[in-house]
Amino acid sequence: MTRPALVLIALTVLGQAAALLHGELRGVVMLASLVLLDGFGAVYSVRAARRGTYRMSWLLAGAGRAFSLGATLAFTAHEVTGLRGWWWAGVASGLIMFGCLTAAALATSAQRLERGVRRSFVAEVVTVFSSGFLLVWYFVLDPVLSRGDRGADLIFEVGYPVGNLLLLAAVGAVLMRGPVSKLTGSSMLLLMGILLYAAADTIFSAIRINGAQTSGSAVSNGALLLASLVMTVAAVRQAAAPTSGDSGTGRVPAWSAYVPFAAVGAGNLLIVGVTIHEDVFLHWGALTIAQAVTTSALALRQWFWLQDSRRLNVTDRLTGLANGTGLRARLDQLKDERAALMLLDLDGFKQVNDTLGHDAGDRVLVEFARLVRQSVRRGDLPARVGGDEFVVLLHDIGTDAQATAVAERILAALRNNPLDLDGERVTIRCSIGVAVTRPGDTARELQHRADVAMYESKRSGSHGWLMYDPAMADRRNRDTAMADALATAAASGQLRLAYQPLVDLGSGRPVGVEALLRWEHPVLGAVPPAEFVPVAERTGVIAELGLWALEEACRQVQQWRSVLPLYASVNVSAKQLQDPAFPEQVRAVLDRTGLPAEALVLEITESAIVDAAVAVPACEALRAYGIRVAVDDFGTGYSSLHLLTDLPVDILKIDRSFVAKLDGTTRGAGVAEAVIRLAGVLGLTTVAEGIETAAQVAELQMLGCTTAQGYLFARPMGAGDFTLDLSARTPSPRATEGPPAPRP
Ligand code: C2E
Ligand code: MG
Ligand code: MG
Repeated sequence: MTRPALVLIALTVLGQAAALLHGELRGVVMLASLVLLDGFGAVYSVRAARRGTYRMSWLLAGAGRAFSLGATLAFTAHEVTGLRGWWWAGVASGLIMFGCLTAAALATSAQRLERGVRRSFVAEVVTVFSSGFLLVWYFVLDPVLSRGDRGADLIFEVGYPVGNLLLLAAVGAVLMRGPVSKLTGSSMLLLMGILLYAAADTIFSAIRINGAQTSGSAVSNGALLLASLVMTVAAVRQAAAPTSGDSGTGRVPAWSAYVPFAAVGAGNLLIVGVTIHEDVFLHWGALTIAQAVTTSALALRQWFWLQDSRRLNVTDRLTGLANGTGLRARLDQLKDERAALMLLDLDGFKQVNDTLGHDAGDRVLVEFARLVRQSVRRGDLPARVGGDEFVVLLHDIGTDAQATAVAERILAALRNNPLDLDGERVTIRCSIGVAVTRPGDTARELQHRADVAMYESKRSGSHGWLMYDPAMADRRNRDTAMADALATAAASGQLRLAYQPLVDLGSGRPVGVEALLRWEHPVLGAVPPAEFVPVAERTGVIAELGLWALEEACRQVQQWRSVLPLYASVNVSAKQLQDPAFPEQVRAVLDRTGLPAEALVLEITESAIVDAAVAVPACEALRAYGIRVAVDDFGTGYSSLHLLTDLPVDILKIDRSFVAKLDGTTRGAGVAEAVIRLAGVLGLTTVAEGIETAAQVAELQMLGCTTAQGYLFARPMGAGDFTLDLSARTPSPRATEGPPAPRP
């Protein structure tokens, strides 16, 4: 509350106290207070208009207050001088005031309503207006009109109540627009002042018309003064607000949706009350009661519907969690409390949807939601904010560890509750980003930090959680810079290929080479493919890079083939496969480089394959040319075994995480063995990746695997180094990249 507002409130209260102690002062105090409040109200409203928010509304309010002041002064002049001209000036000023204030109220809500809600909005405003009319008619208009004198007073006595009805309808219209109206606190206060004014002035008129001394009514005087005070304080408050372009961030209070019900109730009370009071209950009672019950029941039904639709508005239908709207509402309520925001994004959800269908996808989402809800405390808010994106708002977080413990709990629940989808056990996995509020934080900043942490967690591919750390934002910027740099990398000669031999385990001789992209950035240095390939995929540059790598590898291997019959194994990204022109492009490369189709293997990661609608036709087209297709990193994606039986591929590359588990025990060999057996049944060749020890070779041979690659034989190396090895015709564990490989 600003100082001028406090002064005005104090003065008004002091005035009223003085009037209470000295009854004879009452008239003077009332006049002085009204003049003071209207005067300040007019000045501050004009100042408030300079703040930019709802400018027109404040200007109109200022004009309204000026005319109100004019009316008070003119009526006073009429009382003192008895001149009829002053009376006319007062009435005219008063009527213009009603027009201005009505317009001011309406101008606080500039947004248009959607067509669908406009009808019900109009119905609600009519409900409020007609109930107001019932009251005004019974207490003011009917007594005036039935008096029979149709003099000039009628303009005043009918005009003011009608003006009040207009105010009521205007304020009602703004409040009942619901969430469309975004009001500033000051605008809301102005509306309340206007509403109070309408009520007070109606009471004032009713008392006067029904014969009592107006100046004698403490209630109506007090209410009028209070209304005037509220409107003035609103203007003072707005005038002190920081100038900003924001168009009102506050929301219409929730109770405003219940105003029409209150209106129906008031109307019914009045009708029943009047039939009793006027002693016509015996005659009209049954009719009025039945009518009141009918409308009340209808209103009640409407009330339930409103509550249902409110609940639905903030609830996600599929999972029953909160939705984005519900979450935002809770985020807006966060004050200075220490809270945490957790962003969860399912890993590989698209694949589930694509391979197993949308029903399976829905089941995954519902189960995920259940496990999340189960893992958080009662007061915390889990929400689904996008297809497979979830958020949990954690209240009252003492230490960061409390927040990450929840993340751990969720991950453990996911691990312990695999889902049975069409006979397949699927473990749901997700990446989580966590951010904790800081003093002075906005909801947006908090969300942004959680988002950065999630992005980083996703990128790490660890299916775990990460807590926000400022370095992450830098890394994200680095990604953007990287995407820009990548676009020109090929043209400026920063890319090269490293080759890693694929070795026949029987003879120990290389039978092929896998081409692996290397990027030497002039500033960033050597960027690993795990870092730049995903960026290139996101930006689409991968199509160009991939094609360059393919052509370069085919050319190089064709050259080596004059010495040794090697095949080229080249990685292909899911993005490349999606391009219908891809198989044709590959064939053109073969034509240009002279490499025979049977000497080319294209490696596609398992997660790309599971998008069967794209993968199957592409693989078929490639195989029609005689090119072989390998599933890379097999066992790490979501592909189902049943999909694999239909997939047109030739080779399974067992992911190195399974090779690393080979430790001489049956349990350690479990997955590798199963994959090799399965490949045998389906007539596919298996290639093991990441061989680092001789023990692994021995075990793989025992399991029936024929081909392998790994640091044990050779690290990826430049084409120049490779030629040397080939001339020696024996794969050597020489290290051209990174630390020396472990020796057997
Ligand atoms: P990948 O296709 O599974 O390639 C095998 C990765 O395992 C290579 O990492 C290789 O250096 C590494 N590796 C080989 N033997 C061993 C071993 O004994 N132990 C360990 N720990 N690692 C071993 P690199 O070169 O960093 O490539 C990473 C990934 O980047 C590749 O995985 C592939 O998915 C992608 N990539 C590389 N080049 C290309 C390309 O030209 N196009 C596309 N789309 N992706 C590429
Ligand atoms: Mg590969
Ligand atoms: Mg691999």
